[in-house]
Amino acid sequence: MDIDLIRLFATRRPYDGGKNRIRFFRAMKRKTACFLKRSPEYRAICADAGFTLRDLRNVGDLGKLPIIPTLYFKRNHIGIRRGPAVLVTSSGTGGSVSRIRYTPGELCLLAAMAANLGRVHRLFSLRPVHYIMLGYQPVRENKAVISKTAYLSTWYAPGLDRTYALEYRRGRSGADGGYRLNLKGILDKLVTFSSGRNPVRIVGFPSYTCFLLRKMKEERISCKLPAGSRVMLGGGWKQFAGDEIPKEELYSLIWEVLGIGENHVHEFFGAAEHPVLYCSCRNHHFHIPAYANVLIRDAGNLKILPRGRAGLVNLMTPIGSDLPLMSVMTDDIGVLYDGKDCGCGIEGAYLKLLGRTGAKGVKTCAAGAAEYWWQGE
Ligand SMILES: [Zn+2]
Repeated sequence: MDIDLIRLFATRRPYDGGKNRIRFFRAMKRKTACFLKRSPEYRAICADAGFTLRDLRNVGDLGKLPIIPTLYFKRNHIGIRRGPAVLVTSSGTGGSVSRIRYTPGELCLLAAMAANLGRVHRLFSLRPVHYIMLGYQPVRENKAVISKTAYLSTWYAPGLDRTYALEYRRGRSGADGGYRLNLKGILDKLVTFSSGRNPVRIVGFPSYTCFLLRKMKEERISCKLPAGSRVMLGGGWKQFAGDEIPKEELYSLIWEVLGIGENHVHEFFGAAEHPVLYCSCRNHHFHIPAYANVLIRDAGNLKILPRGRAGLVNLMTPIGSDLPLMSVMTDDIGVLYDGKDCGCGIEGAYLKLLGRTGAKGVKTCAAGAAEYWWQGE
């Protein structure tokens, strides 16, 4: 494996530029060369875009890489990897999915990334906690990346138990089962845990967290969770974008109902087609870690926009040897700001997500989960 890639993902300073930027560029160039050599489809994409490896002379040239929309990965499989690897798909229920394979070596690098970010953002704790998972219970039948990410985020503290909002019930005699909403179970556990000693970690979509807390507030159920409890939000609002409430409102709801302060609310961002983890800083901003580069592009002509302007989010990373994930175009709309505008001490730029473009036919895992949510019990 590429030594620059290993050093990049193993860095203990994931927000430092300097050497990391050089490693990032070298790893990106080497990965592009590898796909040009081994993937006829990628070669054709580059030829069509008039791109050659000679166009990459320094970090500033990375914007010249052909950008591949995430929808392309969902519709075509242009992977080059054969043999055993761990398969991750982008969506669990219906809709088109991206199928991305990672080698055991790559999974180690992703684990190093998660560990280094966890250390920097102080997510680790040796104190055992109760996990409340506002999402799908992971089972072999459901390879959705979001439930795996949610599961991974429970590695930062030892778990006494895990209670899932969407429990998997197997059918009779081993037949395929389905998911069932376990709202009552969640509420009962929260009330029980509030009088216990161990902290609670609530992991899930912001939309579900908001709906749950609103319901608790309506029913006047308030449980002050033990000190050290945290809320870890990931996956975005997706099809609930219309219901999205300002972050401040969500933080005050969390404080009101659970007694968890804003500094114990963490947000995460990532995508199946871009396996880099973005953790919110103490001011709730997603600074770009060394493993990635982000460009904002004009939705009309795809030109790179300056800081402060809103456009399509173009994500770059050198990890992934099965599919060319070097430069992918999401359907997210975002803005980049200078790191110093945040004030948290992290120097690198930060990304603010404003929502999604209305890509029809893209059914996300949150959309699938919503059906269970609204069906009630
Ligand atoms: Zn910050």
